[in-house]
Amino acid sequence: MSDSREKNAKDCIEMGFLVKYGYLDQDHHTHNEAEVKAAVRDFQWLSHLPVTGRLDSDTLDKMASPRCGVKDEGGHDAWAHRVNAVFTGNLGKGGHHLRKKRYAQTGEKWYKRHLTYRVMNWPRHLSQGPVRLAVRTAFELWSNVSGLVFEEAGEGPADIRLAFYEGEHNDGIGNAFDGPGGALAHAFFPCRGEAHFDMAERWTLNGHKGHNLFLVTAHEIGHTLGLEHSPVRHALMSPYYKKLGRSLLLSWDDIAAIQKLYGKPSRGSVVQMPGQALRWAMHDWEMSQDSTEGSGTALPLYCQGLFDAITMDQNQTVLIFRGGLFWTVSSEGNVSSSIPLQQRWPHLPFAIDAAAFSPLDKKLYFFKGKRIWRYTGTDLDPDFPKKTRELGLPRQPDCAFFYGPLGHMIVFKGSRYFVLNLQTLHSEPYYPRRLADWKGVPQGANGALTHTDGRLYFFRERRYWTFDPGKVRVTGTGQWAGKLQWTGCHKVSPLESNDIL
Ligand SMILES: [Zn+2]
Ligand SMILES: [Zn+2]
Repeated sequence: MSDSREKNAKDCIEMGFLVKYGYLDQDHHTHNEAEVKAAVRDFQWLSHLPVTGRLDSDTLDKMASPRCGVKDEGGHDAWAHRVNAVFTGNLGKGGHHLRKKRYAQTGEKWYKRHLTYRVMNWPRHLSQGPVRLAVRTAFELWSNVSGLVFEEAGEGPADIRLAFYEGEHNDGIGNAFDGPGGALAHAFFPCRGEAHFDMAERWTLNGHKGHNLFLVTAHEIGHTLGLEHSPVRHALMSPYYKKLGRSLLLSWDDIAAIQKLYGKPSRGSVVQMPGQALRWAMHDWEMSQDSTEGSGTALPLYCQGLFDAITMDQNQTVLIFRGGLFWTVSSEGNVSSSIPLQQRWPHLPFAIDAAAFSPLDKKLYFFKGKRIWRYTGTDLDPDFPKKTRELGLPRQPDCAFFYGPLGHMIVFKGSRYFVLNLQTLHSEPYYPRRLADWKGVPQGANGALTHTDGRLYFFRERRYWTFDPGKVRVTGTGQWAGKLQWTGCHKVSPLESNDIL
């Protein structure tokens, strides 16, 4: 008896999910088995689960994971049409009428290109400056790839309004927020221009805990512009919450969908933003705050810990990479001004994953995405870039460095490391191995280098770890900007300058 009551309660929750997210029509109060099965199949298709029509444990887990509160409409037909348009080059040329609307009136658009927005209230544990910046960056993500232009409205009316609410907030019982987890936010299609965020979530802009407000805002903005959920797993418009990584934020499907509604950028070309875009924007903002407060000598941008890669060449010159720029620090500690990457290394892409100088062949190796570049001086070697897969290496490594004791290049990725033989240009047998071999070295380092002092240095955000190859373990750690003078971030304090005088 209690079993069947439990089952009824469970069924009720699942039916609730399928109705709430648009898989079952909410006008009918009973659904026959075939309808439910079809709804479950639709849900499984969009969620990249085996399409069985059965409510198995994977399907139930997926239903319980954090997601956007907007219905999953549009479905297979609209998506298939978009795929077609991408491959036939028919983007933005009519075809709108082919979209099959299953239930509600969606797929509307704004009939102007210049839109204003405003943040109506603020989340509890984040300050206004960074939130405002994150929202601006999220709008930029879309204006960079479409014909739209956004502007923050001060007081008064705005086309798109973003607000934080708790629980029931007057847009229907189905839209009531559910506390931490579950539905994180929802938004309305044009031209209502509203995006609502669950005040009860733990919102964050940098940490790993909580939900990234920048990503969720960028997704909800997509809805306010008329985009539906995408079945493409890596799409920003996929309904499920994703972690912010280093890869490009928009997938081809997101770009196809926005350009179908608003066309391509009227000036310049499509500019794609990588996952680090917000970190950089945040950092530049912090720097501008610093300089307006007149806190002393301006340090290079990378000094607060945000860089893509670091290495040291045979002259003991440190090279530090960030976005489309790099800096050099001479062995005497003189820092260059920022230099565009392509000025020294033609064809090198923006925002590399890792860089390493090899004293063996005096060449510089760069890693980015699925490829590897090798330069002799400023010349790209023939047959490069190569695919990392062909060398037996992973894509998007965390960091890379030349390791004297082995005479090979080491490539870190997540919890494993690879050993690249620079003569054969192939990964050594018996690798990858566990990172635990490097006793004390943290996972997820953003850079590493072999110093001419014989030791290795690993960097992750503001911290560094020194690894002694003789002792085969980490022997020191601290804040690198203050402690490692050769990084060029050592600030001369007034006291020290007095001493010199
Ligand atoms: Zn959504
Ligand atoms: Zn709402």
